[in-house]
Amino acid sequence: MTSEIPRTVCEICGQNATAGILDNEVTNNNDRNIQIRIRYSCLDHYLQVYQKIQGERKFRLL
Ligand SMILES: [Zn+2]
Repeated sequence: MTSEIPRTVCEICGQNATAGILDNEVTNNNDRNIQIRIRYSCLDHYLQVYQKIQGERKFRLL
């Protein structure tokens, strides 16, 4: 039995991720449909990824 560990790389630079940021995406007004994703980043790009998530949320609200 082999269990593959998914590669977690920074989504800005592609290096090995050292941090994961929870991205709670509400797909409906219904509270039950909350999709939780994890976005990965290295230490240098933690803030960039975080701000990227915030920006995507703004687009969804429009
Ligand atoms: Zn990075």
